[in-house]
Amino acid sequence: RAGFDPQDARRDVPVLHRTVNGRPLVWLDNGATTQKPRQVVEALGAYYSAANSNIHRGAHTMAREATEAYEGGRAAVAGFLGAASPESIVFTRGTTEAVNLVAQTWGRASLGPGDEILVPVLEHHSDIVPWQMIAKEKRARVVPVPLTADGAIDQDAFADLLSFRTRLVAVSQASNVLGTVPPVREMTALAHRYGAKVLVDGAQAVAHFPVDVEELGADFYVFSGHKLFGPTGIGALYGKPEVLAAMPPWQGGGNMIDQVDFTGSTFAPVPHCFEAGTGHIAGVVGLHAAIDWLTSFDRQAVAAYETALLAHAEQALAAVPGLEILGSAPGKIAVLTFTLAGRDPAEVARWLDAEGIAIRAGHHCAQPSLRHYGVESAARASLALYNTAEEVDRLASSLLRLVQSSS
Ligand code: PMP
Repeated sequence: RAGFDPQDARRDVPVLHRTVNGRPLVWLDNGATTQKPRQVVEALGAYYSAANSNIHRGAHTMAREATEAYEGGRAAVAGFLGAASPESIVFTRGTTEAVNLVAQTWGRASLGPGDEILVPVLEHHSDIVPWQMIAKEKRARVVPVPLTADGAIDQDAFADLLSFRTRLVAVSQASNVLGTVPPVREMTALAHRYGAKVLVDGAQAVAHFPVDVEELGADFYVFSGHKLFGPTGIGALYGKPEVLAAMPPWQGGGNMIDQVDFTGSTFAPVPHCFEAGTGHIAGVVGLHAAIDWLTSFDRQAVAAYETALLAHAEQALAAVPGLEILGSAPGKIAVLTFTLAGRDPAEVARWLDAEGIAIRAGHHCAQPSLRHYGVESAARASLALYNTAEEVDRLASSLLRLVQSSS
């Protein structure tokens, strides 16, 4: 479909048509999770109603069908990310588990005393804490890469911090708090000159613009299905084939082995050696449906629509006295984290909720990002392709009434 009309997306998403507190819902909490099109809900229902089976074992028809569905999902994720081979895709519970997998396998095998992991200040806690944990164990160091005043990664500082001690750069392709879209391709190329690996956290990016891991050149790319209009509890890790092949397995158990004997066990090939136990088969089916749904739209047109919606939102919110938006890096995506003078963000969220408008208040699992702006908590309206200018106007007028309702 050429061009993009948000009504085409809205029609498919049942939750968007409910009311909350007597008002039509305005869902502006897409940074926390996205709403699900009926195609995803139906795919989950159809799987459990007609096709449920465990996979990779049992020589019966439904096991074969479930295996095909699961591996079809892997191929869909590979296609979605621009990965040459489905074997580059490991299913995980989500972004958090994917980062922990890399930290615990690649990290444990590769890091040593004095090694450095560069982590920009804008990272989500799930791209900070797993590195701190493995760094502590291996006596390596997590080195923060500072931000500029507008919330971009300071590229001069990044270039200065890179050295032959750098073993990994862990960077988001889009910030879930500031909306910043760092120049990940350039950062990856620079990091590779020092022999460092690069992990890209795509959790906040994948729903907003097309991704091509081959073009990015990243060694690892991770994302969560639930932020991509798919189910919770499913996500993926992309790894370059030669990098995955050199990594030890993570959790031990069924499905990840070749031979088990009390003298020792051997492991299944990549990616199965990283998928111990029964996975979220239905989740993979739902994620596949979500990818099919999102890619049925003209994604360049979707990105352009969201950029225009961001500009509209920035303008509408500028009319609210005392409102300050955190993050203004050029090319940012439609995430509006803000403070309102004299108001606790939790109070702002409660006020909006009473009017059917869902935003999030708190630290958004990115405390260092907020501290960069000198705050511990903020309100966040995060937009998706199914949001409209009318919804943004409802947000702005409600905030204006809150300010005017004053004390
Ligand atoms: N990284 C970023 C940039 C995110 O936006 C999120 C989710 N808000 C995560 C990581 C963590 O994702 P999950 O909780 O699905 O593992």
